[in-house]
Amino acid sequence: MDTDKTSVYNAFVAELKLLFPHEEIEARVRQLGAEITADYRGADPLIIGVLKGAVIFLADLIRQIDLPLEIDFIGLSSYGDGTSSCGEAIVTACPAVSLKGRHVLLVEDIIDTGYCLETLLKIIKAGEPASVKLCALLDKPGRRQVPVSADYSGFNVPDAFVVGYGLDCGQRYRNLPDIYTLGESESG
Ligand code: 5GP
Ligand code: MG
Repeated sequence: MDTDKTSVYNAFVAELKLLFPHEEIEARVRQLGAEITADYRGADPLIIGVLKGAVIFLADLIRQIDLPLEIDFIGLSSYGDGTSSCGEAIVTACPAVSLKGRHVLLVEDIIDTGYCLETLLKIIKAGEPASVKLCALLDKPGRRQVPVSADYSGFNVPDAFVVGYGLDCGQRYRNLPDIYTLGESESG
């Protein structure tokens, strides 16, 4: 066991400030699932999660959607490993199924500047889906640089870096069940 890594992890977690406890997230995810179920009634949507941050949210969300849905994933990686958003991004994974004629619901962890989603939406639309909607757990509307908005949005968050429930800091802390702020740091 690397006790040094464990103590760094524990010290970081001890400094975090609770923003949304998992009970609150669960209740909001249930509402979003009910809305999506009602809106897509009669359809078999293709729900595409954005790796890696949206994995936890997607796993909970789809269990609140009562439809014959399919899931797939798309991956976008920003340079570096820290707390920056993706101004320059590389595609790390593409959906395995054809998007043509499908009702696609893109599921993202957080919209910050909007650059990531602008890129992702371009890729998705190139696949000629019948429709594309966006569901984001978190939104920082005050940080937007490009006009991207979610059709389904969980919570607005202040201009602070958030971690937990899939959201990382340097690839760690995605496993925390609640959502925390790291402090009033720059996330761009
Ligand atoms: P955007 O392109 O909208 O600026 O950035 C979106 C991506 O940046 C998100 O999908 C997420 O990966 C990352 N990001 C933006 N803000 C935060 C944040 O507060 N915490 C974490 N963990 N990631 C963030
Ligand atoms: Mg992301």
